Amino acid sequence: MQYSQTLLDDIRAAVDIVDLVSRFVNLRKAGSHWKGLCPFHAEKTPSFTVNPQKGIFHCFGCGVGGDAFGFVMRQDRLSFPEAVRALAKSVGIALPDERGAQSGDSGREELLRVMDLAGRFYADTLWKPAGERARAYLEQRGIDTGIARHFALGYAPEGWESLLTFMKAEKVPEEALIATGLAVARENRAGAYDRFRGRLLFPIRDLQGRVVAFGGRGFGDEQPKYLNSPETPLYTKGNLLYAADLARPTIQSENRALLVEGYVDCIMAHQHGFTGTVAALGTAFTPAQLALLRRYCDEVVTFFDADAAGQKAAARAEELLEPTGRGMAWAVNRSGAFEGAGALRVKVALLPAGHDPDTFLRAIGREAFTERIAAARSILTYALDRALADPDGATGLRARTTAFARVALLLAKVADGDEAAALSREAAAKLRMDPTQLWIEAQRLQSSLRTPPAQSQPSPAASMPSVERDLVALLLYSAEARGALLGLLGESDELGHASLRAIVDALKHRPDASAESLMPDLATDDARSVLSSLLVEDRESVDARVSIGQFQRRLERSQRLRRAREVSQAIAETQAKTGVAAPMHAELRTLHKESAVVYEITGGVAQSLEHGTSTSPRSSDE
Ligand SMILES: [Zn+2]
Repeated sequence: MQYSQTLLDDIRAAVDIVDLVSRFVNLRKAGSHWKGLCPFHAEKTPSFTVNPQKGIFHCFGCGVGGDAFGFVMRQDRLSFPEAVRALAKSVGIALPDERGAQSGDSGREELLRVMDLAGRFYADTLWKPAGERARAYLEQRGIDTGIARHFALGYAPEGWESLLTFMKAEKVPEEALIATGLAVARENRAGAYDRFRGRLLFPIRDLQGRVVAFGGRGFGDEQPKYLNSPETPLYTKGNLLYAADLARPTIQSENRALLVEGYVDCIMAHQHGFTGTVAALGTAFTPAQLALLRRYCDEVVTFFDADAAGQKAAARAEELLEPTGRGMAWAVNRSGAFEGAGALRVKVALLPAGHDPDTFLRAIGREAFTERIAAARSILTYALDRALADPDGATGLRARTTAFARVALLLAKVADGDEAAALSREAAAKLRMDPTQLWIEAQRLQSSLRTPPAQSQPSPAASMPSVERDLVALLLYSAEARGALLGLLGESDELGHASLRAIVDALKHRPDASAESLMPDLATDDARSVLSSLLVEDRESVDARVSIGQFQRRLERSQRLRRAREVSQAIAETQAKTGVAAPMHAELRTLHKESAVVYEITGGVAQSLEHGTSTSPRSSDE
């Protein structure tokens, strides 16, 4: 379905792009713009810029950019019509009847609808007589009714076709159920069966609160104890955090996230007022999950049982090692020059042996939990303790030398200078060694671990010839320039850069359009990114009149050059065919007179004529 320009303009005007982007990126005000870490490439210093006046975003690091529609398309991997529908809905603008508007739909929206329906079906079932067993389990685990509803917990009834039957009545095709992982195709015959049966279900939602997967817990001896949705077009393991949508406001206001392992740990923390808690959805936590948290806060506190803390902290720290331009470094301490907010501090709070947040909160309570959080230490301190301890319990000189090597290796991976210095002082004191010596060894290791920086992709805006760029920017900002120059722009000669050409073509179609409303007229990501790069800088101050005059002369000149080339080409072709020197074309003579520039060109034509004659036998044979 083609949406009208007016409708698109209305939606764009109604959407607050800073608000929209803020749901995914921690933005800070920088003059008239907002800046943050780009959600589309990994970076340490913010080059992602939002211009609220124009309603556009642009990243100076990777070059992507666009308007609100483009942002939603990229962030949620939506097609353009889907992005329009999502934004229209969010600002309460009604769209024309959408029946039959499925073309261009990637199918994602349909899958989200199916997951939403399933979430409701399971949640309803929990509170019906059939959900008795699950409700008893909640009570036994101490989960309040209110919090169970807040998390939209559900119950998948026994039987192989409960959900299938419900979905059939909702006219949802079986393929959609299989695509969302809710049903499993039968192996030996046609048909499918419910994946989740007789389990308590935890809906896993994305940052916008849409259900994308389920975690299901069995009550008795069912194997496995936890059964999760498989990876689907909606859900990639390791990219999401459980309850991130519910916890985000608290995480942002407290500038800190609490990271736990299990669903019940997370729910119990919320129930006790720790509403900035998320769960890692699995035993490993991934750099992608940390990157997600880093957009919203500067500190993450995770919880380990005192017995296993050293081992687990070391293992987790290893998981967070990432290749960087300077070798391997911990994602936890990547520092940036962004108001000191680039680093995400990952801390570990210790719980007594045998406890997890769930049991601790129920047995000991929230005040003690708050104290544990306050006493949390950097995860790297635990990793350091472990590197210092000899696994064989030896304490002699040799053991100290080995420990020295292990600590130096660990320090080599700490990218944040302050943290590395603090850790090396601590380690040196424990090893009874000179911190300088340790430091030097770590530096030496760091340079040997260093990997060559990855070849960065040139951004679409980088390769723009500056003249072409200035011309298009002028056209975007000045109606007068459009009037004077658009007609002079030929098919392709003046603009070698494909994306700039696409912008000019769009302008030719809608010469009265505002610059920002051209975004949907552009067919490629590159072109939209180039447009956003031109819009993000404020160019209004350029003296349009002077520039228009300059470009006008320039374009008229190149128009004459083009004409001269066409004419001389025609002469060359004629001569090649006839073998006789044709009289000089009258038009070329006129052009000759027109300017000295063209005269220069005809000198060039004389050469190309010779060339054309010598190659003519081959071309005329064809
Ligand atoms: Zn970027």
